[in-house]
Amino acid sequence: MSTEKKMSLTLKVLLGMAIGIAIGLAINLGGLNTPGGFINTYVVDGLFFVVGKMFINALKMLVVPLVFFSLICGVCGIGNINTLGRVGGKSFALYMLTTAIAIASAITIAAFAGIGEGMNQVSAATFTGKEAPPLSEVLISIIPTNPVKAMANGDMLPLIFFSILVGISMLMVGKKARSFIEGAEIANEIMMKMVTIVMSVAPYAVFALIARSMANLGLDLLGQLAGYVLVLTGALLAHLFVTLMLVLKLFSGLSPAMFLKKIRNAQVFAFSTASSNATIPVTLRTVTERMGVDNSVASFTIPFGATINMDGTAIMQGVATVFIANVYNVDLGFGGYLTVILMSVLASVGTAGVPGVGLIMLSMVFTQVGLPIEGIGLILGVDRLMDMIRTAVNVSGDAVVSCVVAKSEAKLDASVYVDPEAGAIDIDEAIHIDQAVEEELAHVVEAVKSSETP
Ligand code: ASP
Repeated sequence: MSTEKKMSLTLKVLLGMAIGIAIGLAINLGGLNTPGGFINTYVVDGLFFVVGKMFINALKMLVVPLVFFSLICGVCGIGNINTLGRVGGKSFALYMLTTAIAIASAITIAAFAGIGEGMNQVSAATFTGKEAPPLSEVLISIIPTNPVKAMANGDMLPLIFFSILVGISMLMVGKKARSFIEGAEIANEIMMKMVTIVMSVAPYAVFALIARSMANLGLDLLGQLAGYVLVLTGALLAHLFVTLMLVLKLFSGLSPAMFLKKIRNAQVFAFSTASSNATIPVTLRTVTERMGVDNSVASFTIPFGATINMDGTAIMQGVATVFIANVYNVDLGFGGYLTVILMSVLASVGTAGVPGVGLIMLSMVFTQVGLPIEGIGLILGVDRLMDMIRTAVNVSGDAVVSCVVAKSEAKLDASVYVDPEAGAIDIDEAIHIDQAVEEELAHVVEAVKSSETP
């Protein structure tokens, strides 16, 4: 019992993930996942599905209020509109740069590996493409006609815009807005506490999510598409461990080893949810409390990054383009690949970080360069697994840029960054309610009530 208590949350989550992979694969390999069967109905699509979905809902529940309050606090914390513009400009430039490097290197790796050459169609799955919104529409929709609607829909860019504007207006109002700022700070702290509460059940939820994904994994297809899967995974890992770590070291001088150790939790959440958006609360907590990035920078860079920065997704698009061009014997030429790079970078700006959106972006790229959209059907069967891996790379990119921008603005607490234990969650402590605090709050409520009764 006592050893169990001492196990860190990260370790428990990793354990949940490992057991989930083992049990899910056992179900898959043992042929227990036949539709209509007991295991499929009550365990995989029953228990695992319900637990996993409840957890993702809980994470999503936190995103909008957390982004709103932390951004208000962030803007007021920066306290200077010029600095705010600089932080925005730097993070936008870095997000675009890393995405462009990601896709260019992915195309190069895939072309050298020659994946898909001499291969015939391996899947009958069909894919119908969706039109991605044009840039003009993306720009227009940054400004919400109704902020409540944007919040209700979880639309990140209009939410960011509105929250920043509220923060700036509060600064302009000045002294009178002080109690509102204090209120927002308290609300932000409460939301962060909720993140901790939700994270504390992660080991079980991650287990359920992973076990279900593995049970549903098309292992035969994985074998047939081994070339694509291996090259894509290799390119994703190379971007995470080489490109992003070089960017971190060169632009900020921070230790990549420490970064990789601390980002693990956010990566596991991203991997199991396949959604950068749903992972925002965890990424935000990781960079602020574990890496020492000031909330004034992180509150902006993290939700912004979850929306516009998708290095992993761009890599998938690069590898998939080369793969499908080879399968269909289409020579895209240098100009074609340049278009792919440009389109992928632009597409990542306008699409949210939710599961499977990468394929929609891919169909937009294909339309542009004239590749057959049905080709996407070839990689459909393995996309969920690839989505999980690329989402982990996406959130790592967001965190790297957040650290680099914070360091350049002197908004990174180096003592927190180098402390391996900083911000680590001790579940018992984190969600413990002190009896004295409970009584104190009860007294406050009593006092308020009695002052209200005439
Ligand atoms: N699932 C990815 C994300 O949320 C997007 C994608 O590649 O489909 O970042």
